[in-house]
Amino acid sequence: MSPSTESGSIDWEYAPAPESEAIGRVKDRYLPFIDGKFIEGGGDDLVTINPGRGEPLSTVSTVDEADLDTAVRAARRAYEGPWSKLSGAERGKYLFRIARGIAERSRELAVLESLDNGKPIKETRDFDVPTAAQHFFYHAGWADKLGHLGYGPDPRPLGVAGQVIPWNFPLLMAAWKIGPALAAGNTVVIKPAETTPLSALVLAEIIADADLPPGVVNVVTGAGDIGAALVGHPGLDKVAFTGSTAVGKQIQQTLAGTGRKLTLELGGKGANIVFADAAIDQAVEGIVNGIFFNSGQVCCAGSRLLVQEPIAEELITRLIERTETLRVGDPLDKNTDVGAINSRAQWNKITELTQAGIDEGAQVWRSSCPLPDKGFFVSPTIFTGATQTMRIAREEIFGPVLSVITFRTPEEALAKANNSPYGLSAGVWTEKGSRAMAMAARLQAGVIWDNTWNKFDPASPFGGYQESGFGREGGPAGLAAYLDTDDEAVIK
Ligand code: NAP
Ligand code: MG
Repeated sequence: MSPSTESGSIDWEYAPAPESEAIGRVKDRYLPFIDGKFIEGGGDDLVTINPGRGEPLSTVSTVDEADLDTAVRAARRAYEGPWSKLSGAERGKYLFRIARGIAERSRELAVLESLDNGKPIKETRDFDVPTAAQHFFYHAGWADKLGHLGYGPDPRPLGVAGQVIPWNFPLLMAAWKIGPALAAGNTVVIKPAETTPLSALVLAEIIADADLPPGVVNVVTGAGDIGAALVGHPGLDKVAFTGSTAVGKQIQQTLAGTGRKLTLELGGKGANIVFADAAIDQAVEGIVNGIFFNSGQVCCAGSRLLVQEPIAEELITRLIERTETLRVGDPLDKNTDVGAINSRAQWNKITELTQAGIDEGAQVWRSSCPLPDKGFFVSPTIFTGATQTMRIAREEIFGPVLSVITFRTPEEALAKANNSPYGLSAGVWTEKGSRAMAMAARLQAGVIWDNTWNKFDPASPFGGYQESGFGREGGPAGLAAYLDTDDEAVIK
């Protein structure tokens, strides 16, 4: 748009720049994928919503317990039949094909994911979809090199993996789960979240086009009851879950005594710690990325900002100025920084916790960026004057809401950062490498970033401590979770 000079002053407002919805090729109805075929499920259809508009997007046939049983049996046959008899190099070829299939359909997947989840197109296009492809490429490379992982000369797969994934990174979480499972020689039954099933079903099309033997990957659709039935199915050898801590605990109970291998990737309340010597502008960018990426609906979000007192005022002022420039709105608009919240239920949870912060006496600042009339949107929100006891400082909000707490000494920062039942992510901003290392050694978090945030790589293990779960995804440690080793929790 050319700047308007009608009133004498230049108007630098962005014009809308929406990506075409047609690129997403959204169908009226989708079917679950079992034993190499898209079948009519025995459950009731579910309607998936476009959170950017708060309107129905498509309909999905869901499975019942009999279909689930069919899927687990198909996965077992595929495991005992073709899949476990293939060489690692042959398995790798299939994984490379899937990676290329994702790359080939990347524009479609980016639009579809944005429509079904509500996250901005620039995130799906530049992060979710390419990182999903990268995970398959990475694991394809390992498939014929498992003997070099450090788990013995010929580590064996486990068998059939049951996997349940959440709605915040639907395609990427499917890739995180399916890639290592197949590379290690397992077969899979995976359930996407009820509110975001579409990209996993397009991934199933890509998998079918890659000519994967029937039953190696099965995508079952449905709500939490189907997730519970899947993880409790006696035909599984391994369960992998990403989602809430409450459900993770239930799954741990269900699996106790079964001997099945389990990995849990649960919630978090990441502490982003900024020392007075940090490069402030760089830290501000990292803080913004840490809490407003995917509207804060990220398990490793930097949702607690711990800032050293001498720079607190200046940092908060600059942070607010920067946050005010974020554009909230249509997820398909290429200029949108902060998209929609995934569901009405999540919107309600964020709103309730934000109100709790106000009621408990923290000072609230909200971006003045206008919100769309329709859809589930929350203004970027920053609470200052938060104390350790407030709900906004303790509970996972899973929204674009930051709680700022101050500290004086490194000891105080450590005590505050570690004062959480979670332990997934943390970050340290300081000019001194020695200080970053000393902090990292004592922070109770599975992932610690130094002068950055949200850096992911398929080669780098990701996972938590305490109520953030156990087991790692990514890298050799992530493959171990799908191999017969003794390194992961097995509840016998
Ligand atoms: P959730 O209930 O744990 O859902 C995660 C997945 O588990 C979904 O596929 C869900 O199915 C399924 N599920 C639900 N109940 C189950 C059960 N009893 N047994 C097995 N699977 C079950 O999480 P949510 O309700 O979507 O979100 C709630 C909170 O979880 C969020 O506010 C956030 O704090 C946290 N969360 C964390 C992550 C993460 O990456 N660690 C991701 C998402 C959410 P349906 O979705 O179809 O019900
Ligand atoms: Mg949806």
